[in-house]
Amino acid sequence: MRKFARTALVAGLMALSLGSCGESYDPAANGGIDGARLLNAQADGANWISYGRNYEEQRFSPLAQISTENVGKLGLEWSADMDTARGQEATPLVMDGKMYLTTAWSKVKAYDAATGEPLWSFDPEVPGETAVKACCDVVNRGMAAWGDRLFLGTLDGRLIALDRDTGDVIWETVTVDQTKSYTITGAPRVIDGKVIIGNGGAEFGVRGYVAAYDAVDGEEVWRFYTVPDGTEGEDSDAYLQDAAKTWSGDTLAGEDGIGGGGTVWDAMAYDADLDLMYIGVGNGSPWNRAYRSPGEDGKGEGDNLYLSSIVAIRPSTGEYVWHYQTTPGETWDFTATQHIMLADMEIDGRERQVLMQAPKNGFFYVLDRATGEFISGDPYVTVNWATGIDPETGRPIENPETRIDKTGQPATVTPGALGGHNWHPMAYHPGENLVYIPAFEAGMVYSPQENWKPDRARGFNIGFDLGASDLPPDLGFRKQVAGSLRGMLIAWDPVAKKARWTVEHPGPWNGGLLATAGGLVFQGTAGSDLKAFNAADGTELWSFAAQTGIVAPPVTYTVDGEQYVAVLAGWGGAYALTVDGGLIANKAPVRNVSRLLVFKLGAEGELPPPPALADIPLDPPPSRATPEVIALGKAKYGRYCSVCHAPGAVGSTVLPDLRRSGTLGNKGAWLSVVHDGILQDNGMASFKASLTKDEMDAIREYVIKRANEDKAME
Ligand code: CA
Repeated sequence: MRKFARTALVAGLMALSLGSCGESYDPAANGGIDGARLLNAQADGANWISYGRNYEEQRFSPLAQISTENVGKLGLEWSADMDTARGQEATPLVMDGKMYLTTAWSKVKAYDAATGEPLWSFDPEVPGETAVKACCDVVNRGMAAWGDRLFLGTLDGRLIALDRDTGDVIWETVTVDQTKSYTITGAPRVIDGKVIIGNGGAEFGVRGYVAAYDAVDGEEVWRFYTVPDGTEGEDSDAYLQDAAKTWSGDTLAGEDGIGGGGTVWDAMAYDADLDLMYIGVGNGSPWNRAYRSPGEDGKGEGDNLYLSSIVAIRPSTGEYVWHYQTTPGETWDFTATQHIMLADMEIDGRERQVLMQAPKNGFFYVLDRATGEFISGDPYVTVNWATGIDPETGRPIENPETRIDKTGQPATVTPGALGGHNWHPMAYHPGENLVYIPAFEAGMVYSPQENWKPDRARGFNIGFDLGASDLPPDLGFRKQVAGSLRGMLIAWDPVAKKARWTVEHPGPWNGGLLATAGGLVFQGTAGSDLKAFNAADGTELWSFAAQTGIVAPPVTYTVDGEQYVAVLAGWGGAYALTVDGGLIANKAPVRNVSRLLVFKLGAEGELPPPPALADIPLDPPPSRATPEVIALGKAKYGRYCSVCHAPGAVGSTVLPDLRRSGTLGNKGAWLSVVHDGILQDNGMASFKASLTKDEMDAIREYVIKRANEDKAME
């Protein structure tokens, strides 16, 4: 019955894709990636044709040539250096012996997948100043394929169709209002000839949505907003009218509306039998609910649908079907954009079609994907914001001490804003019935900010004081904080609702995962290795020193019957730009060497010696500014600078360490960067729309003070 339904559906979908638009395009005749091939992706071990390998997003390869028995003989076959040195998060696609991948700055590269011969490259020429619209580095996570085309979302919000053979642009559509701080970092998916893509920007003040574009010509087919805009009348969609009832106040409405957030920046999955597409919805904009949805007492009220929710949508029309909200009234940046994975399994004696997610909030959820019914939700890391999930209602049982509003004491919350798990893909092993989670523990102090106002031009709009919780210049204290950070590979049993085994890493922010029928789980690490573990018990079986932190997930494929494993190495992303991100728990500096690494059995390739780390001494001018100026600089730094240049200006290995900047002692040189924007092509845009020259100089004085403190500490 099921098989019949699927076959009939595919035939129907293909007819639709041919007949629905003026231009006819037969994907099967043009390069062969069509609906049938995407639906059967799991059986096709040779290729990797969709971001999560199949529509279920399982990242499980049926290939078993490389196995627990022989993985020790895995060696480097070829490598390719990238021309960007920022976070590399992409999953390569592999089709018919050719590999296609995206890099930082939304660039695309194509290679012969067996030899590494470069075939073509494409640079969408994203304007450098777009970087300040990106919360979490200028990353890109991958592409989608259909027919002979590849689809790329760019950091500045374009969706581009490329010819897979040449890299030539076929069409290009601007999917966002580019005057606002929208970005695209996620990979599109293609369902029945429609290219689906969302966007990011909830830290800055945007209204989230996901939209479908015709793969033939790039025309928008439908758009699904995840939050109301404050004008919901009788004419608006019922699901948005329902959502509007869960918001309070008038912060959403009008030109100065606060955005609301709810961006759909990563997870999607698709069940063809149910004809449902699932999206993960992000955090509120601003984070602090007391400003976003103030309620009568101004302390925050309402669930604020569909923030932090998993939503099921009809992919042909964008029609709402069901939702499950993981964090009602979210206020901690607890996105539910994390990897959504589908699988079938027996739970309590019943065969269930489940959807699984380990969102930022620290609970591992199992839902019925036909109805959205809550099945289970259990902590996969240490959680203090809630004591559990009520099994009857599916709602979290919140700890009131962790919810702060506009005033009062800060709260230390775990997981923090980076989550217990972020964008890094999980993987599934059907034989073990395990979901592998690249998890971590890094709590965060949330400090209230009185009289907060949104800034429409630049900078974070979160409604908390990011400058208030800098680490003090005390080496012992910093080591204590670093020591509390954990990074783990967790093998989660979704039926037993607990970890079967856990591998501890030196620190957070390790790579996405790949599981294989060879009984292996592959993972790159913040500690600069690519490793293979036994999928059954977590025993480490192989390791390769990659010279750089790896955050992207590996893939595997075959060419002429030979199995390869590939990973795009290159440290970066949100955590890499924070306090400890360059150090992994204060043990060793993590560098960015952006390079594609490809392995096969018996290969013996070696990497060139790693480039030397820049060693710029900490030699700031003396700090002579008044406490008032430094306090002003600290507040402005916290809001406008800290997310890229690290809280407390302590620097990372990815972006310039401002304490070591040659412009620190020269006000004119400093302003030429911060005010005039002379480095905008590198990603450092002018902040003159948001900051006065006096405020910019106060930031300089604050950084001088911080540099002197840290020099004394060292
Ligand atoms: Ca966020």
